[in-house]
Amino acid sequence: MCGPSGVWDITLLKNKLHELKIFRSLKVRIFLIMLIVGLIPCFVMRYAILNNYEQRAVNVRTSDISTQLKILANHLITYAYLRDTSSEVINAELEQLSNLYDGRVLIINSDLKIVKDTYGISEGKTIISEEVIRCLKGESTSKYDRENGYIEMTIPITESLQLPEDKNMGEKFDVVRGVMLVSASNDNIIATMDSLNRQALVVEALVSLAILVCVVLVSKVLFAPFKKIIVALDQVQAGYTNDPISVTDCRETELIGDAFNRVLGRMKMLDDSRQEFVSNVSHELKTPITSMKVLADSLITQQDVPLEVYQEFMGDIAAEIEREDKIISDLLSLVKMDRTAADLNISQVNMNELVELIMKRLRPIAMKRDVQLVYESIRPVTAAVDEVKITQAISNLVENAIKYNKEHGFVKVTLDADHQFFTLKVEDSGIGIPEEALENIYERFYRVDKSRSREIGGTGLGLAITKSAILKHRGTIKVQSTEGEGTDFTMKIPLTYIAV
Ligand code: ADP
Repeated sequence: MCGPSGVWDITLLKNKLHELKIFRSLKVRIFLIMLIVGLIPCFVMRYAILNNYEQRAVNVRTSDISTQLKILANHLITYAYLRDTSSEVINAELEQLSNLYDGRVLIINSDLKIVKDTYGISEGKTIISEEVIRCLKGESTSKYDRENGYIEMTIPITESLQLPEDKNMGEKFDVVRGVMLVSASNDNIIATMDSLNRQALVVEALVSLAILVCVVLVSKVLFAPFKKIIVALDQVQAGYTNDPISVTDCRETELIGDAFNRVLGRMKMLDDSRQEFVSNVSHELKTPITSMKVLADSLITQQDVPLEVYQEFMGDIAAEIEREDKIISDLLSLVKMDRTAADLNISQVNMNELVELIMKRLRPIAMKRDVQLVYESIRPVTAAVDEVKITQAISNLVENAIKYNKEHGFVKVTLDADHQFFTLKVEDSGIGIPEEALENIYERFYRVDKSRSREIGGTGLGLAITKSAILKHRGTIKVQSTEGEGTDFTMKIPLTYIAV
């Protein structure tokens, strides 16, 4: 878990934990959090109690030993033990003290020589230690060696002397004659601490167990509504039901249910429109085939068909094939438009030239229908667009304006721009669109007058393709129409393409 710098990498640790499936379970996370929250006070308390006990126990023992040593030190002076260590009384006292504190007592004279060692090892040897030297100057010392579990103490052996009466009025003063050095074992304190520690560990284990039980119970209650949600979602997924789900046990599940119902609603809507689209496509594709079949059958069943009839029927069949081809290519264009915006092939396009080219291509159709085509370019326009898709969108609008026009009618195309958008207006003096039909004209396969549209080669997909292309460029399209007078389509597209 160490990063290249050798420092603990928290993100790496988090990722590793996330990879472990068990840590992704909410139950496990809650358990760990509660465990940490529950056990930290236990650890702190254990540490504080043990520390406090140890300090107090060592203090009590130190002052206890110190009292005993002070009494003994007086006896040592009384019995002149530093000069003669044969005193039975003192030796017994020393032995008793040594046994009582499970330790060792050394009696050292002012020459730093050990005159008595209750262990009998170092008698006659000289001891040079900082504590002993400080003690010879009259200072008692005590040291607690936690690692090895003993207390080491030094007590000066002092003799009180009195000055002669004539000098300083018989004042008393202490002379340090030697040092008592004691090493007392702390085993009983350590044993008590061990026992306290064990008890604390048992408490901690019990707390952990209680937390585990709590988490199991709480998670059962807490996760029950989520389980219900999962069951309900599984049922929708398996297709048993399409009904909205509702788990009102808690606010969170209610919100999840609401969000899911919204998604479900949208999916239903998409499914409905997909089904409608598929049935429309089948119908549209079937119509030319049915016509062709009728035409072909009548040719097959008739004997000695005159050449003119044969030619006329074959001409009709060719027209139906052309129609089928147009429907299929329009459908393909629509499918391409439906893909993501990333499929757009954006480049800087001179819109004036492009519109002129489109007009040039459509002029023969307009002439055939005796419709006048007018193009007005207000200013030069260059825009970042997908040339193919925008060409298709504009062509459909102009083609419709020609198709749904009247004899001697006109179509006027105007290109303008401001600093942000370019606008293309296609006005015609045609048949117009009834007001109630205006909101449907961009739907796939929608036609105001089905038979008329079929007659003039419409597929009902042109405006759907146009709108889809404009939306892909983050543009808008608006229509205004008066029945019998004409229609105006205005498309508005940003000059700079902004990908989302
Ligand atoms: P189509 O291939 O039938 O032209 P569109 O999607 O291009 O399909 O148009 C849908 C319908 O909107 C047309 O069938 C027609 O009834 C109506 N429409 C479109 N443009 C015009 C227009 N300029 N004038 C009158 N009606 C129009």
